[in-house]
Amino acid sequence: MKIPDKTVVLTFDDSVRSHLTVAAPLLKKHGFGGTFFVTHAWMDDTNNYLNWEEIAQLDKMGFEVGNHSWSHIAFATPKDAELLSNELVKVEYQLEKVGVPKPVSFSWPGNQFGPEAVEVLKNAGYLFARRGPQPDVPESSVVGLGPLYDPEINTPLLVPSSGLAVPGWTLSDFKTIVDRAKNGQIVVFQFHGVPDGRHPPCTTPPERFKEFVEYLSDNNFNVISLRDVKKYVSPDAGKNDPISKARFVP
Ligand SMILES: [Zn+2]
Repeated sequence: MKIPDKTVVLTFDDSVRSHLTVAAPLLKKHGFGGTFFVTHAWMDDTNNYLNWEEIAQLDKMGFEVGNHSWSHIAFATPKDAELLSNELVKVEYQLEKVGVPKPVSFSWPGNQFGPEAVEVLKNAGYLFARRGPQPDVPESSVVGLGPLYDPEINTPLLVPSSGLAVPGWTLSDFKTIVDRAKNGQIVVFQFHGVPDGRHPPCTTPPERFKEFVEYLSDNNFNVISLRDVKKYVSPDAGKNDPISKARFVP
């Protein structure tokens, strides 16, 4: 199926409280999809992070809940990849207890990845996994600007972030990134909290986020969750992506 121009995937990492209080209601208002990648890592901090019952509300609102591992450790080395299976299952078990279906999407903690862990995800039935903008673009390039996601080229278990939200983004920065969504290529955003109290370098101010979402709405973007990309992807998509053999540790 042909990918419409202006197709955008919004993803949100770390199960930050503002995902439920700020981001989700705004997306819902505009009929947009989105993927919330959840982890147990900071859940004891109930002021800043969602618990499992609250995460279930995101699912009930129609959003995708994805797996971001139990402990938010890196899985880039062969040794660390051995831990991934158990890290996935622990999150899946808690989601099942609150009625959320087994995730089909994963996001790589710290945006680090390796070929052994890709195999673990494949064997565990995951269809998509989102990484960061690196290593395609150097970290010193325009802040937050990453490669586009081309489902014909990129393996679905290493979907690049086309935009990694930073606190200083203006609407103009956002447009620079999102207006590239055309010719079969998808723009994938990686957000954290909106705002993010515990991790200020990752925060997006709510008033900025509102501007971004309104821009998408006013300009008729096709805003979907990562799992929704499935309908555009052929079963052997990304088979020859050289990055599927690569390891990324910043
Ligand atoms: Zn994370």
